[in-house]
Amino acid sequence: MPRSSIGSLVAPQRLNDHFGPSHVLADVAARNCSAHRSRLTSHVVACGACWELAIRDDERFAVECGLPREMDVDPEYVDEIAVELACRGERVRLTRPELAVAAERLLARRLSLSAAAARLRVSYDAVFMAVNGRGSAVAAEAA
Ligand SMILES: [Zn+2]
Repeated sequence: MPRSSIGSLVAPQRLNDHFGPSHVLADVAARNCSAHRSRLTSHVVACGACWELAIRDDERFAVECGLPREMDVDPEYVDEIAVELACRGERVRLTRPELAVAAERLLARRLSLSAAAARLRVSYDAVFMAVNGRGSAVAAEAA
């Protein structure tokens, strides 16, 4: 299907349901579209052509590198880079185990629970529950 026809086949509301800011390729599509983003409304991540480019590039990379189509996600996996960025105060979405590691790391640096919560951009309760093993994935997401 030619790129120019994607946008015209998908109604705007339907497009938002599937190609929103939470899509794993949203940042890539937005970067592809940055040259003409000003013509789009603020709630649109990217135009159809830029979404298609992002998806095709992602698929091509997976095929060329022999990556599996579906990933087995370890729910206890800790992304050390995400944890380090969060500990520096950068806005990063953390999983429950990552929040626990980040909170423990900041507390070991003698930050208070309140200071750790502020640094990680989460609530005091989220940090408290994370270090006590009762955090939820929702609470662990940076605000
Ligand atoms: Zn575009």
